[in-house]
Amino acid sequence: MDLGLKGKTALVMAASRGFGRAVAMELAAEGAKVALCARNSDDLATTAEDVREAGQMAWGGMSGSVLARTLDVTDDIAVRDFISLTETELGPVDMMLVNAGGPPAGNFDDMDLKAWRQAYELTFESAVRLCRLVLPGMKQRGWGRIVQITSVSVVQPVENLMLSSVLRPAVQALTKALSDEAAAFGVTVNSVAPGFHNTSAVQRLIAKKMEQTGCTAEDVVSGWTDEIPAGRLGEPEELAALILFLMSQRAGYLTGQCIVSDGGWVKKTF
Ligand code: NAD
Repeated sequence: MDLGLKGKTALVMAASRGFGRAVAMELAAEGAKVALCARNSDDLATTAEDVREAGQMAWGGMSGSVLARTLDVTDDIAVRDFISLTETELGPVDMMLVNAGGPPAGNFDDMDLKAWRQAYELTFESAVRLCRLVLPGMKQRGWGRIVQITSVSVVQPVENLMLSSVLRPAVQALTKALSDEAAAFGVTVNSVAPGFHNTSAVQRLIAKKMEQTGCTAEDVVSGWTDEIPAGRLGEPEELAALILFLMSQRAGYLTGQCIVSDGGWVKKTF
């Protein structure tokens, strides 16, 4: 299936690892120009090189179509500069993946007001900022795709993830409300809600659970997979494939949706 993404410009936030990285790789393989960023420079250069190679392997001669910057999505000036640079070097943004690290795990008693404020800035305010900066141009040009990564916590609260369970539904509401305003301009806004996937974030969650409970990593994982009909964790590339479809030309009539990717874990009829 031709997704129609060749030559288009994509902004992929929080992309040195995990879902962001997988999406950047898939976009490059489809011939898109990719601007990616991450909070730490650790893996970013390697990821940028891999993304460049994926583009070259698929299309040849695509060098220069990848841009990578270290920044925090909560840093207003850095995000604005990154978007300006992307527009100058790669062209106006056609697709955007709104993504960031998740807010810290913990229960209500673990969270003071400072933790709530920081989680709001990381999870909700950063999404609003990105949409404010990118959506007007998409509307003006009459085409655009915005996809936000949330979590199954938009559908039901997840144990020990209090901040995510409260703030992610607000991001989902933003997706829905924005899609209503943007659809007439040829811009779609959707979100994906992952369950457990095999990324470094989940590896950290496993380590924390092992510390709290004294269980082995296998025990922690089987505690989850026993309740997942697919019987396994998802792979980041599986979520990336869904995101790529939502960003494609083909998905022009699909907007305001939240698509859960969780191996059947959440039991909800509709
Ligand atoms: P990951 O830890 O594997 O990768 C996170 C990426 O985000 C890294 O590149 C990191 O540098 C970057 N990042 C983190 N905080 C940032 C910030 N403030 N500014 C800029 N970059 C930042 O994580 P992942 O599993 O890919 O998770 C991505 C999102 O999906 C998170 O919000 C996470 O909570 C959510 N999520 C993940 C799962 C899962 O099973 N992996 C499930 C549900 C939701």
